Amino acid sequence: MSEAERAAELRRQLEYHSHRYYVLDDPEIGDDQYDRLLDELRALERDHPELLTPDSPTRRVGGEPVGRLEKVEHLEPMLSLGNVRSEEELRAWVERMRNHLAREGIAEPRFTYVVEPKIDGLAISLVYREGVLERGATRGNGEIGEDVTHNLRTIGAIPLRVEDAPPLVEVRGEVYMSLADFTALNERRAEAGESTFMNPRNSAAGTIRQLDPADAAKRPLSIWCYQVGVTEGLSFKAHSEGLQWLRDHGFRVNRGIKLLGSAEEVIEQCLEWERRRGELDFEIDGAVVKVDDLELQRRLGSVGRDPRWAVAWKFPPTTAVTKLEKVMWNVGKFGDLRPYAVLEPVAVGGVTIKLATLHNEEDIVRKDIRAGEEVIVVRAGDVIPQVVSPAPHVSERSGRPPAPHPPARCPFCDTETFKPPDSVFTKCPNRDCPARAWQLLKHFVSRGAMDIDGLGEKQVALLQERGLVRTAADFYGLREEQLLELEGFGELSARNLVAAIEASKGRPFARVLFALGIEEVGEVTGRNLAQGFRDIDALLEASAEQIAEIPGIGEKMAQSIREQLDDERMGALISDLRAAGLRFHEEGPPPSEGPLAGRTLVLTGSLPEWSREEATAQISAAGGRVTGSVSKTTDYLVAGESPGSKLAKAERLGVAVLDEAALRRLLSGAGEAAGSTDGQPVDA
Ligand code: NAD
Repeated sequence: MSEAERAAELRRQLEYHSHRYYVLDDPEIGDDQYDRLLDELRALERDHPELLTPDSPTRRVGGEPVGRLEKVEHLEPMLSLGNVRSEEELRAWVERMRNHLAREGIAEPRFTYVVEPKIDGLAISLVYREGVLERGATRGNGEIGEDVTHNLRTIGAIPLRVEDAPPLVEVRGEVYMSLADFTALNERRAEAGESTFMNPRNSAAGTIRQLDPADAAKRPLSIWCYQVGVTEGLSFKAHSEGLQWLRDHGFRVNRGIKLLGSAEEVIEQCLEWERRRGELDFEIDGAVVKVDDLELQRRLGSVGRDPRWAVAWKFPPTTAVTKLEKVMWNVGKFGDLRPYAVLEPVAVGGVTIKLATLHNEEDIVRKDIRAGEEVIVVRAGDVIPQVVSPAPHVSERSGRPPAPHPPARCPFCDTETFKPPDSVFTKCPNRDCPARAWQLLKHFVSRGAMDIDGLGEKQVALLQERGLVRTAADFYGLREEQLLELEGFGELSARNLVAAIEASKGRPFARVLFALGIEEVGEVTGRNLAQGFRDIDALLEASAEQIAEIPGIGEKMAQSIREQLDDERMGALISDLRAAGLRFHEEGPPPSEGPLAGRTLVLTGSLPEWSREEATAQISAAGGRVTGSVSKTTDYLVAGESPGSKLAKAERLGVAVLDEAALRRLLSGAGEAAGSTDGQPVDA
């Protein structure tokens, strides 16, 4: 292939992948592979300038806006960023800036740098006129983006109104989805048989480009702001002054952003972000280094699509290509067969991975994944690695191995499996299946449920294997001598475990209900059932209609809960656990007493001191009820750091917003007026 042909081929491939990435939010290849293709084209164009075309992907930002959403022209282009991947490349960037400025007549410039996390979301421009959010748009092709104001309004962290604002200010930032929300969203989609997202960036991009804001509001997004763009009436000398202005005016600016004086410190800080990458609750793909002085920025200008005064320090990729050796199947709590991938071990982002999730059987079909072929795997932060797709060109091959199917017999108990028509999972119907029992036991001792320290999945499996534990009630009969005979237990650990099991008897009724393993009874429903019925006998006697009166429970769900409660085994489990001394009634005042009697509260974001569980327990003890989503009947929204879309909804509905301090005052009976902190102004 001639160089001209290779360049044309690369352009074709880059166009195709750009379209999938920016327009369809559904990339087929990992970013590092895309970057490699782009680097190859760049090198070709550098060595053969005659091959450079004005529309080359090396010269363009992002993707073309599509027809669905209205197009808007940016007040000033939104650029991309050049990359560096090593200390040498970073120093070379500084050298290039010095040389450029020297040609401009500025000798020995003194650089101060700002180092920011490079959030892997999508760039957004917010335009405020006279302090009111007028328009929010995606970057699009840099000049023209898409109007997504309707969806941005659902993001609680974006102020709709700004106090003491100039006539015009444009704020730029990155909209993203937290890793926890991303995992939860993918799980929900997998359960519903919908396609899963490759990474948090794609799920954020897909969400923000929804046509219906109600759809966007269901998926929590947040924003980190990182730049003041065009303004009338504000003037700064430095980028960092702009960041301070943003902070002072209610915009979310990352607290880890640093102002540094030397390239050495910049390198150290970039490496620090790389180390901290796995601890953050959002994904970053690098650090951004910017020259602080705005006059120097102006003199440096931009080259092609990248400013000269900023650069992205890119981290090693989170995707890799490896062989999918085989597809194996786990059995879930309710008998559902869940596929996972056994991989030829591969290093991704500093960790070797051997297993990855495949969500459900329909996902395998949709992604066209076959065992024995090369696949792309991705690992983001702490999120479980997932198989994304076959490696490039694999799907075009002929004579591919057959598609994996769920096994006809359960891999753990050999019972014939079946697929219910309304489920995306094939199931093992055997209630005595050891794998299923193991999942139920693991659930019982897990954190949100009985929270028994020292009982991990290995210990549970061991106790099960030795025949010491068959149902959850058996945990309460365990004695130290029995544990001492098991491998891995010493005197101290055996004593501690027995004590931890004993202590779990004090968990509130709501957690016991959740721990039982009733399909559809999650933490929130467990709590609502506990508050509504207050006592297991009342619940056991309730009709499906009465159960359906509990908030958040529909008729179908009530019917299913009723059937499961009627099940003989469930009855036996409840009576055994009762005999063991677990709590089967609600403590504290009934909802008609206590300072929060009859009040409904919703929690969002992380509170400074209380965990969500503690706050919920405090509210319940004061007679209040905690529900999962904001509605007209919500009395208060308690908002902490990084609130999600619930805050915007509360503001829209005029629901009072409290912080933790205000909640504490309410709990102590200090009255509500003193406690309520108004949220951002409600948008008309
Ligand atoms: P970029 O992502 O490398 O850098 C620019 C962007 O960084 C900005 O637009 C902004 O969104 C973001 N950013 C995050 N934090 C920032 C901060 N603090 N300050 C300034 N900007 C910040 O540039 P790009 O042009 O979007 O690069 C394309 C990226 O998309 C590459 O990583 C590429 O691999 C990927 N891509 C992948 C595919 C694929 O098929 N997998 C296709 C096209 C592009």
